[in-house]
Amino acid sequence: MTQTQKPSLIGETRQGLAARLRALDLPEREIKMRVAQLWNWIYFHGARDFDAMLNVSKMLRARLAEHYTLERPEIVSEQVSNDGTRKWLIRLRPVDAHDKGAEIECVYIPEEDRGTLCVSSQVGCTLTCTFCHTGTQRLVRNLTAQEIVAQLVVARDRLGDFPGLTPPTDGLIPKGDGVRAVSNVVFMGMGEPLYNLDHVSDALGVLSDGEGLSLSRRRITVSTSGVVPQIGELGARTGAMLAISLHAVRDDLRDKLVPLNKKYPIAELLQACRDYPGASNARRITFEYVMLKEINDSDADARELVRLLKGVPAKINLIPFNPWPGAPYECSDWERIEKFSDIVFNAGYASPVRTPRGRDILAACGQLKSETEKLRARARLAAQ
Ligand code: SAH
Ligand code: SF4
Repeated sequence: MTQTQKPSLIGETRQGLAARLRALDLPEREIKMRVAQLWNWIYFHGARDFDAMLNVSKMLRARLAEHYTLERPEIVSEQVSNDGTRKWLIRLRPVDAHDKGAEIECVYIPEEDRGTLCVSSQVGCTLTCTFCHTGTQRLVRNLTAQEIVAQLVVARDRLGDFPGLTPPTDGLIPKGDGVRAVSNVVFMGMGEPLYNLDHVSDALGVLSDGEGLSLSRRRITVSTSGVVPQIGELGARTGAMLAISLHAVRDDLRDKLVPLNKKYPIAELLQACRDYPGASNARRITFEYVMLKEINDSDADARELVRLLKGVPAKINLIPFNPWPGAPYECSDWERIEKFSDIVFNAGYASPVRTPRGRDILAACGQLKSETEKLRARARLAAQ
């Protein structure tokens, strides 16, 4: 058996690790303690080698190494933007002999007081929002919980940011005292997380475990295009913060921009938000609104947005449209965005425009699409 064919323990849940240990015939009475040890080494210290696990007997370390690895998915490329944003193209470990390893993109956005990792929940996306590049990708599959968690592990490897390691001093921002390089996770990369809720929910359990990766659930945000039947479920199972990709205030327009709206129209979506477990003024739901020139950016749209959100504990995030090659929209003019944002601000919503980050490396929202897909598309074009 070659190294790469062994299952990796990276990203496993506690139950998953227990099952891996049982498969080695470990006595049941030892399992809980061994899981705790592995957990601490893998997620608290970021161990890459079983031999580093000094409180695990040499014999067990050897057996673990014989059957499993601590291999991470491979970083195929790293691009660093002039604003410090990093985009990693990550090749997932093959799931079987025919799989060449699907690719996903993962983006790290450092700010003064926080560092946000934008993770993917699927390879591609089955939905077809007309302004989103990921929606044009044909290859689609759900990520496993392991693959979702592995994105944070890879980022922490790269940034030297495990809770059990001394933070790096090489100028990596954020600069605030005691702020981790990755302090927040948003599910705003590729895919619709609520179409993969079981795995997202397991992954959230690992990300937020206080004895391991230790991210607070209040610093984990799941963004959905509006899969209404799963919204309550997400809240009940994970306690994650919710973000809704609203983008339009009328059903006829939202039907076009976010076709899922035909199934779950705005009124139903907002009702699900009002009912979201744990939503309160201290834990507001974020409403994302992409600014598309002359499509959804009028004063009337802004006023209607404010009216619609009455009674929902909401924050509004205006996202300047990030163009991609062949996109059918343009970003609203800056003055228009400011005017729109003034109306929203005067209605009591604070600082709503999201600064585009990593634009020079196509790392912004909705620009993610795997390199293999791009190459394939290029090959198709070349063949025409
Ligand atoms: N599928 C989920 C999460 C991933 S998309 C969702 O749709 O919410 C993350 C955010 O980026 C969403 O708000 C999405 O609408 C937005 N987005 C997609 N393409 C974009 C683009 N080209 N410019 C700006 N935002 C975009
Ligand atoms: Fe999928 Fe979200 Fe893109 Fe829509 S915006 S196609 S739901 S990733």
